[in-house]
Amino acid sequence: MNEFMTKLQNIVAEPRLLLDEPMAKHTTFRIGGPADYLVLPASSEEVAAVQAAAREYAVPVIALGNGSNLLVRDGGIRGLVIKIGETMGYMRKSDTTVIAGAGASLGDISRFAACSGLKGMEFAVGIPGSIGGAVFMNAGAYEGEIGNIVSAVTAVCPGNDLKRFTHAEIEFGYRHSAFQSNGCIVCEVEISLSEGDSGSIENRMGDYTSRRNAKQPIEMPSAGSTFKRPPGHFAGTLIEQAGLKGFRVGGAQVSEKHAGFIVNAGGATAKDVMALITEVQRKVYDKFRIKLQPEVRVIGED
Ligand SMILES: Cc1cc2nc3c(=O)[nH]c(=O)nc-3n(C[C@H](O)[C@H](O)[C@H](O)COP(=O)(O)OP(=O)(O)OC[C@H]3O[C@@H](n4cnc5c(N)ncnc54)[C@H](O)[C@@H]3O)c2cc1C
Repeated sequence: MNEFMTKLQNIVAEPRLLLDEPMAKHTTFRIGGPADYLVLPASSEEVAAVQAAAREYAVPVIALGNGSNLLVRDGGIRGLVIKIGETMGYMRKSDTTVIAGAGASLGDISRFAACSGLKGMEFAVGIPGSIGGAVFMNAGAYEGEIGNIVSAVTAVCPGNDLKRFTHAEIEFGYRHSAFQSNGCIVCEVEISLSEGDSGSIENRMGDYTSRRNAKQPIEMPSAGSTFKRPPGHFAGTLIEQAGLKGFRVGGAQVSEKHAGFIVNAGGATAKDVMALITEVQRKVYDKFRIKLQPEVRVIGED
């Protein structure tokens, strides 16, 4: 056993430390080769300690939430994956603010807010990510955006400081936040909501859920919308108009239900998905002269 491994074992006990862990088990695409090391920290102190160990041994680090916006390549990840999941999934309420561990799921937080009579989080109920991943991506749906309700974030930053970011310091933009370039790992999120009636909040959540179920291929593995929305257009409409609905490369397919999604129709590899992304970009560009930019983040090696 190597020294780095021993060091990790002293920070996170065995069931929360995995070796050669298939990333297909940790992504909603159900695709991805093995990560050398994967840890499931239970506190920001553990995140800081694990990150310090990785720095000491020059092991590259990547943070993971629920893996719902990720394509991990078939060769997997050389280095350490820090999965901020259920082990950091706590939630509490203080007046009209919800304070959540970065691993709490958007669905759970939305339901917790509804039960607490707090409105503003309904739009996020069907987004299958963690609040940490949602801050990183500035996830949004149905005219709502995480950046509109997050008032502050606590993160472990390179150098190991636990830093509190104000709303302005997070620099939210369309599917953008400062966390995409500052190397910090989101550990806790403060969400500012307002008082509302639980019944109406639940009705709105029910409405969003049925709209999502009717339109999106949620019964198949995917990473959600494959491409960002090009200004003035919808990626799914352009892809459909380019005649690509149902188009396949290996096990990867442009969804028959919603052309904005690439789905794993069975046994897809990351190589299949990448080839399909390139083909979709090429055909849409040929027809409309619009270059689609992936929203899905691609990591790992071939
Ligand atoms: C069926 C389906 C529907 C979807 N619908 C929507 C939608 O309506 N709107 C929308 O915006 N998205 C949608 N998505 C995409 C996805 O759910 C969101 O982007 C979500 O916010 C990603 O969260 P995650 O925890 O899964 O992040 P991951 O996929 O695990 O990670 C995404 C990125 O965030 C980084 N990251 C994750 N956690 C942390 C952390 N704690 N600290 C620092 N960096 C971190 C990762 O390194 C990675 O680069 C959908 C996906 C699916 C599969």
